[in-house]
Amino acid sequence: MRSRVSGTPVSLSMILHIDMDAFFASIEEAINPRFKGKPLIVGSRGNRMHTVVCAANYAAKAIGIHSGMTTKRAYSIYSKLEFVAADQAKYIWTSEQILELLKGFNLPLNYASIDEFQLDLSGCPTPNPVSLGKEIKAQIYANFNITASVGIAKNWLLAKLASKLNKPDGLTLIDDSNFEQVLRKVSLDKLCGMGGKNGQILIAKGLKTCWDLYLNLPGLLLRNPGKFDENSGKPSEKPKSVSHSYTLPIVQVNPQVIHAWIRLLSEMVSTRLRQQLLVSATVHLWLNGPEIGNLGAQKTHQAPTNDGYEVCQRAIKIMTKLCLKSPKIRAIGITCSGLSWGNYQPLLSEEVRRERLIQALDRINNRFGEGTISPAITALARPNPYDRNL
Ligand SMILES: [Mg+2]
Repeated sequence: MRSRVSGTPVSLSMILHIDMDAFFASIEEAINPRFKGKPLIVGSRGNRMHTVVCAANYAAKAIGIHSGMTTKRAYSIYSKLEFVAADQAKYIWTSEQILELLKGFNLPLNYASIDEFQLDLSGCPTPNPVSLGKEIKAQIYANFNITASVGIAKNWLLAKLASKLNKPDGLTLIDDSNFEQVLRKVSLDKLCGMGGKNGQILIAKGLKTCWDLYLNLPGLLLRNPGKFDENSGKPSEKPKSVSHSYTLPIVQVNPQVIHAWIRLLSEMVSTRLRQQLLVSATVHLWLNGPEIGNLGAQKTHQAPTNDGYEVCQRAIKIMTKLCLKSPKIRAIGITCSGLSWGNYQPLLSEEVRRERLIQALDRINNRFGEGTISPAITALARPNPYDRNL
């Protein structure tokens, strides 16, 4: 473990940023020690030659392999690469366990992404933030056998930058004593938000390092809050469940129409979840009909979701398990529970595309009214409950 500075007292505002090192690949290495030290990639899909690298361990990074690269290209660099197909549920579970561990430090905590967490040390009774950083890193390693890099600075932007500077297993403090010295050495594109067009514009203007940025646009580096916002992007209360149900105008026996209603209700529930920044692990399907009476069942999944398609798939599986052959259905209800704050970043390229599609549909439906665009199958569900403000 490397530490640049130690023994610095906490200033008025201080953020500690934790960034897991090569998170998915490290988890796979920790589970399967035979990968240790060998170049390893985690593929977006199971087909090793026809997918994209979504994580590379440090041995693979060292020979020029990185995430976003096609596996074909990665294998052309090193034909003996170890390969694992991504297991999202495993990574989310580990992330949640790390979050639980961090809650034990009793400090304001922000879940920045699946492999990044932030603690607000402002007013922290600990006299030495570096000691706290070391303790956190040690606890993560002891519990999960994977390493994290920690950055500490007066706001989240600088703390995040600091966490990148000594990877892997790094610990970096940026404070007034080394602010200029550190920023002079760091190229501008390392700073969060400067990798794309913004960075290119500034680089074209001759700004090369973060220190150049500070000299020209100091507010950009320093205006980011040192303390978390009151809400930190999270509402203070979360509901126990979100549901929608509908009584059909006639008893329905057509399985396609029943499927269409389940999809439509799933979409409506999922829209509510997304509006409240929630994801759901448990889907409950409720059915009512003249022969079956009231019938319901639920299933909890490892990977929470707020995607209407996924909720529908889960509900249809429940219906299949209930072994209903040609059921007569009069009313249907979908309830999503097991709710958590849904700020996971999509992990795989397919999910990124799906996430963007959902966001685009949400924007259109928010602007022109709910149900303006909905999946084709829901056209079979008539009358459309969107029209009745259900
Ligand atoms: Mg990371």
